[in-house]
Amino acid sequence: MEALQNYPLEPAPITGVVKITTTRHCWMQCRFCDFSHFTPVLYDTKVPSCLPLEDAESRLAQMPSAVGLIKIRGGLSFREPFTYFRSLVKTVADGFRGPIQAFSPIEVNQWHRVEQRPVRELLAELKWAGATGLGPGGSEILMQSWRDRLSPHRIEATAWASLAQLGWEIGLPPSAMILAGQWLSESDIKSHLQMLSAYSWHHIEVKVFRAVAMQPELEAMHILSLCRLVSETRDTLTDTPIYVNEPPGGLSHDARILLSRSGADGFYTTLEAIEP
Ligand code: SF4
Repeated sequence: MEALQNYPLEPAPITGVVKITTTRHCWMQCRFCDFSHFTPVLYDTKVPSCLPLEDAESRLAQMPSAVGLIKIRGGLSFREPFTYFRSLVKTVADGFRGPIQAFSPIEVNQWHRVEQRPVRELLAELKWAGATGLGPGGSEILMQSWRDRLSPHRIEATAWASLAQLGWEIGLPPSAMILAGQWLSESDIKSHLQMLSAYSWHHIEVKVFRAVAMQPELEAMHILSLCRLVSETRDTLTDTPIYVNEPPGGLSHDARILLSRSGADGFYTTLEAIEP
């Protein structure tokens, strides 16, 4: 009876998100990512261009009113200079007064290397353009052996985390991610959580791996492992807010309640995706 009384009848708050993707092409070749198209740098290579700024502007003008967060992300493109990405943030910020999570350390590192500009300067310009935080990137597991195996071209785990921490100095609080998929072992998750706990994060996002949407029959099993993952994250990162990124189609009301009970502070649900 007591357990029933403690059980929340309402889930934690749900935030409507608009996701802006600059390009669905990326040279990084992470083995699990559908953006991963190897793009050799040869002068006759046809690299598709990123989302035109005017397209972003016109789509944003029709944005649903319930938007609580805009996330800007991309594959990694060599085609556009940093000023394109800064202008995109500015375009978004000109029409939206809420939080704008712009790019992640992986993009900042690419601009730093390609344009030979200091990281702090790039972060300061994103902030000037209107960004309010750094995103957690796509499946950044901070376990070096996992990265070596599945995304061998990424910067090292400690370099990623250190770059993210610079966001605090500039006023772009960083976020990090935990992947919820059957393909991370318990010891992988423990190592990742230990790494996360060595740094400071504005919030943690739990990303439900896409296979859940493709295999709805696994949902019951997956929801339980998801609850366990959220609860383990809550135990390790006691004061850091945890948001669950909902898979396409969203989570059921009951699933949200279970996850809230396990320690989730909120849910991100995608209202609209703007892509090239
Ligand atoms: S860096 Fe990100 S977008 Fe690029 S292939 Fe890896 S996960 Fe995908």
